[in-house]
Amino acid sequence: MTVDGRATLDAVVIGGGIAGLSAALRAAELGMRTVLLEKGGTPQYPCNTRYSGGVFHVAASSPKAPPEQLLAAIAAKTKNTADPSLAAALAGNAAATMDWLRNHGGKFVKGARQENFAWMAAPPRMWVRRSNWWDTWSGRGPDLLLRALALRLKLFGGELLLGARAQTLIIEGERCAGVEAIVAGAAVRFHAHAVVLADGGFQSDPALMRAHVTSDFAAVKQRNTLTGSGDGLRMALAAGAATTGLGDFYGHVLSRDAFTNDHVWPYPLLDDLATAGIVVDRTGRRFVDEGNGGIYVANRIAAHMDPLSAMVICDTRAWNGPGRQRRISANPQLLRASATLYMADTVEALAGLAGLSSDAVTRTIDAYNRAVRSDASIGLEPRRSTRQHPPVPVDTPPYYAIPACAGVTYTMGGMRIDAHARVVRPDGGPIAGLYAAGSNTGGLEGGGRAFHIGGLARAAVFGKLAAEHIASVVAARRLRDAA
Ligand SMILES: Cc1cc2nc3c(=O)[nH]c(=O)nc-3n(C[C@H](O)[C@H](O)[C@H](O)COP(=O)(O)OP(=O)(O)OC[C@H]3O[C@@H](n4cnc5c(N)ncnc54)[C@H](O)[C@@H]3O)c2cc1C
Repeated sequence: MTVDGRATLDAVVIGGGIAGLSAALRAAELGMRTVLLEKGGTPQYPCNTRYSGGVFHVAASSPKAPPEQLLAAIAAKTKNTADPSLAAALAGNAAATMDWLRNHGGKFVKGARQENFAWMAAPPRMWVRRSNWWDTWSGRGPDLLLRALALRLKLFGGELLLGARAQTLIIEGERCAGVEAIVAGAAVRFHAHAVVLADGGFQSDPALMRAHVTSDFAAVKQRNTLTGSGDGLRMALAAGAATTGLGDFYGHVLSRDAFTNDHVWPYPLLDDLATAGIVVDRTGRRFVDEGNGGIYVANRIAAHMDPLSAMVICDTRAWNGPGRQRRISANPQLLRASATLYMADTVEALAGLAGLSSDAVTRTIDAYNRAVRSDASIGLEPRRSTRQHPPVPVDTPPYYAIPACAGVTYTMGGMRIDAHARVVRPDGGPIAGLYAAGSNTGGLEGGGRAFHIGGLARAAVFGKLAAEHIASVVAARRLRDAA
């Protein structure tokens, strides 16, 4: 049954993460009649924002840094692959967005000396080593931020409708005129001047992930809240939207035990051990350029025909060096969590313990060490790049082997948008009335090499920009109607 919901709204926003709440609150603040549809059914519904680390940064720089500095940081992090108009919009609006979040009850603290930790939602997530980090989100910064924004939305007359799953856009002629959602088992149509899709990506949808990211969905660990099911992307595609960069995701290399042991995800990451050592598959051969960093390695593991064959191999120098440098590090968290880890004094013995061919692993490590020592690592197959993570020989016993997997946090590609967060068609023209923000959009991150610039600040900036554009269009229409 289709029940006609209510009078035409100015804005209907889909998804109550940081992108959607920023869009809905800003729209309501600007006088727009606004409804936010969130499929989660409880006030503290799960979403990636609520469970995140809460670090607001732009390409590892403080979001309050001058726009020129942010533009340079985005260009450097993405090797100039980011859409210039989106990069300019992000760099130019990040500082004002942080002030705006603070004015609406967001609390932030400096989480560490590094610049990327300058704006951390307060109180920061606790870095719990002995129990499960994942379950400690309640009452921490990201949770409180979402609760503050939801409260302000209500104060400005906006409505947050829980248990409402948007499923089809209402298209009238060439424009988007609302959305149909399932609310309490019934289809309800929300007519609106504009719709903002902020549903958080498609990382948890088997069909979309198989089509774009991995042939073996079940072999990729969901390092997220399982709420990104690609609804926004499907709706936008049906409306004629262009997409960009669907193949890349933000994620990390994890212990393969993450599928069965909640103490080894979302942390510790194996990224530092992978880049300080090598990553091999069942054949004992390298299959990825470890020098491109852990996010890239995770993407290549997911794209491997046998993702669960990945094994990180390193030596004691890596294990006691890079392996210890994070707040929740592989060393000693893997030991504390009784995760699978092989250790031996020789490469041959290590390969035997790990169930790999000792001939193959020995050949791989010998060739790797020879190339690294003679500065010829670029000539390896696959090449080993040297700038971001300089290679070091794997030659100091004891040696370690850790069965690994790819953990997906959110998809980096999605709908193509312009600098006002309008969803565009393949010819670049905007689809009237349709906007998108957050992890369901592409154009900034990814770049074919999984370049990462941070998800929270980006989502808040484009959510707010979407609302501001909607308000300007609605105001112009009201003026026209009044004339
Ligand atoms: C463990 C972890 C740590 C992280 N740490 C950081 C960090 O420190 N810094 C950083 O920048 N990023 C971090 N991220 C990434 C960050 O969380 C995301 O980039 C960001 O939260 C994306 O916000 P969003 O609003 O687009 O999506 P989300 O926060 O996921 O919100 C999407 C919402 O849409 C809802 N929804 C989906 N489909 C529908 C539908 N059909 N109808 C209605 N509602 C729907 C979902 O239920 C969800 O509530 C982390 C992520 C994780 C998982």
